[in-house]
Amino acid sequence: MAIVAWFGPIDAMKPETIRRLRDGIGLTALIPDDYTPHHSGFRLPEDLLESSPLARWQEQHSAVARHRKTYGLAPNASPVFPGIVGPPYDDSKLLRLIDEAGKQEVEVWAHLGLWGYGGDIFPDLALHDDQGNVTPDEYLYWGVPICPNNVEVRDWTGRCLQYIARHYGVKAMDVDHGHYPPLASITGIFGCCCHRCEARARALGYSWEAMMASLSALRQRLSRLTLSQFQRAASLSYGFPDFLGHLGYDTHLLDWFKFRCQVANEHMEALTQAVHQAVGDACPVDSHMFPPAIAFLCGQDLPQWEKTVDRLTPGWGPVVGWDLSQTNSFAVWARKLCRRVAGLDERTALTVIYRFFGYDQLPMPYTVADLEAERFPVAQVMALEIKKAALLFSGKKPFLPPYRPWKLTLPDTTYLGETIKSIGAPGFITGGDLSDETMRAMRVAV
Ligand SMILES: [Zn+2]
Repeated sequence: MAIVAWFGPIDAMKPETIRRLRDGIGLTALIPDDYTPHHSGFRLPEDLLESSPLARWQEQHSAVARHRKTYGLAPNASPVFPGIVGPPYDDSKLLRLIDEAGKQEVEVWAHLGLWGYGGDIFPDLALHDDQGNVTPDEYLYWGVPICPNNVEVRDWTGRCLQYIARHYGVKAMDVDHGHYPPLASITGIFGCCCHRCEARARALGYSWEAMMASLSALRQRLSRLTLSQFQRAASLSYGFPDFLGHLGYDTHLLDWFKFRCQVANEHMEALTQAVHQAVGDACPVDSHMFPPAIAFLCGQDLPQWEKTVDRLTPGWGPVVGWDLSQTNSFAVWARKLCRRVAGLDERTALTVIYRFFGYDQLPMPYTVADLEAERFPVAQVMALEIKKAALLFSGKKPFLPPYRPWKLTLPDTTYLGETIKSIGAPGFITGGDLSDETMRAMRVAV
């Protein structure tokens, strides 16, 4: 494989580890994350830090404390923000890594977050739903975006990326969280409806009133669901038009999701262009994607996304990961529906949810507890999403699927690698502790 990238903590990227990964799986690139500042460990000039719309974050004491508690962050860790916020960080670890990796002919890619987090610290800038509310505490864990139509935040993020590309000479910009929350944040589906977004929607030719009416109708439909509807749907083989029927064939609801994707695309395109203006083609830009099952509903229209970035890379972890973002969303919806619809049981709810997202073809568990404990066929789930993504993309941009082998058996590791090979991917992104046996299985499979 031409591109083999390892995404993980910068503290784990020791010279001997780089050598072992290079020999074991043909490592070509490292994507370091430092969990204290939540980026690769950059130091930006003070005037650039000071010009951030988020520069005064430390004054938001209670919101910062709530954020750290929600995500289990250390007391000295910055909240997760778009771009780089102060105070200036010591970049000696990153400089050492760039030097050591260079000696072994391994690239270093820059990693930092975009607008998908930080809204809980700055409620005035945050996503607002169609009823004017910010994200309630129960959904904080899934990320509270800054409104993606905030051009001031977007332009400043672009200046951060330009500085990083010029100053550190990184070989790629691998950014994260350029999206609305996963479906697990039910309130997230109904935003952002702030005045900026309304103005942008009108400028793009959408009917704001019709889209708001559709969101209101969706709320009503959801609140009126009955046990009998679920039981009947669970016993039938449903297709796409059947589900559309339950949404009233509402084209304005589709407009809503399309509008959000357009906004996320505009934001991402501006950042990609900023990097290209700074360093030309020297630093390709990629931004983490949701798995296809939920991407469109979370602000990422993948075929359009392909046009705005230089390469296509997956998200990781419980919020954006290709194994967990959708399964966590299924779990939250199933639990919520069982609470709201009298008599509904988890098996029936999950049967309908799996059918809706195309998961009834896999041996999935039928309790929320099993789903949350990751007692599902992880390799098959990821392979399904990788194959679906390959169908959506034109093939003009490199698609680097997630190869997540930890906790997988060796046969599953082989199966996932063979899937990545079968779609003709030019490489993959991996991470975690890889045993010698796992690396051997990976190398043989791809
Ligand atoms: Zn907005």
